[in-house]
Amino acid sequence: MAYLDANASETLRPDARAAVLAALELAGNPSSVHAAGRAARRMLEDAREAIAVRFGVTPADVVFTSGGTEANALAIRALGVGRRILVGATEHDAVRAAAPGADIIPVDGAGVVDLAALATLLQGSPVLVCLMHANNETGTLHPIAEVARLCRSAGALLHVDAVQSAGRMALEFRADSIAVSSHKMGGPKGAGALLLAPGLAIAPLIAGGEQERGRRGGTPALPAIAGFAAAAQAAPPDVAALRDRAEAAAVSAGAVVLGAARRLGNTTCLALPGVRAETQVIALDLAGVQVSAGAACSSGKVARSHVLAAMGAGALAGQAIRVSLPWDATMADVDAFAAAYVAMAARLARRAA
Ligand code: PLP
Repeated sequence: MAYLDANASETLRPDARAAVLAALELAGNPSSVHAAGRAARRMLEDAREAIAVRFGVTPADVVFTSGGTEANALAIRALGVGRRILVGATEHDAVRAAAPGADIIPVDGAGVVDLAALATLLQGSPVLVCLMHANNETGTLHPIAEVARLCRSAGALLHVDAVQSAGRMALEFRADSIAVSSHKMGGPKGAGALLLAPGLAIAPLIAGGEQERGRRGGTPALPAIAGFAAAAQAAPPDVAALRDRAEAAAVSAGAVVLGAARRLGNTTCLALPGVRAETQVIALDLAGVQVSAGAACSSGKVARSHVLAAMGAGALAGQAIRVSLPWDATMADVDAFAAAYVAMAARLARRAA
């Protein structure tokens, strides 16, 4: 089986697995004052330090959460108070759902934010801008450093969903808050963090104990957090050449690549004209190759991708699959994909014609 759906969840890194297992041995609650509690607290603070170093923030500005969805919701609920909220047209549902009624920042045909439109939208009342770094369906990267400059000069706050890019590439920008997630960088599911600008205070989404300096109530999920920290310390994956090889094989069989040239090195979004995305996903799965539809699937219904629709992809929006290589992808995985894709395209594209 070739697993090429890393943007849904990465394969677990060995160091992360070891860290999870070590943390499972600790009985203590990090809030307890006795020796077992102090050992758990030490492990939690070591993890916080590792995450802070990795992402260039101070440990006090790291708030651990259950993952990217909660980190996004925490930031938007806290920073959006009294502000008009602007959300990129291709944001993940985790952001869209946290900001109902937000104004939409348009993107161009490659999925890159329209900076002129953003500058216009920034005028007027105080604003919170929510923009992702890398798109989960296409890998397209927004020019966040430029967006941050625009926000600063307009006095706007900026929240960045870096769930897909964190751990895979350097985050070369500053923002008021940044959401990151463990299982997108080879850590276990169930942990993530909100990285805050120096000293920025936020109200909790989940009130309770004084955990996370009162910013997130609840006993921290220490095994997941320890695994998260271990995964975050790994070198970024180097799979762009393998991705290019997979993409070239698909293009030779009639695929159209959707997205920008500046994108994540592990991702390609491939439309096969005339063939429904879910048909492709099933055909590839039967051939032992696991990818996902560009379209979001919920409650058994496959909806047309809002990301590809916002890019003006037209009918191709329902005919695209996402191939996302995990950190440990191999040439054999790519060759299996290429063979399966070429055979599928010959069979299905002929039928569609
Ligand atoms: N943001 C983006 C861009 C994502 O791709 C995802 C997950 O697919 C999330 C947020 C949600 O992260 P999590 O699964 O950690 O809640």
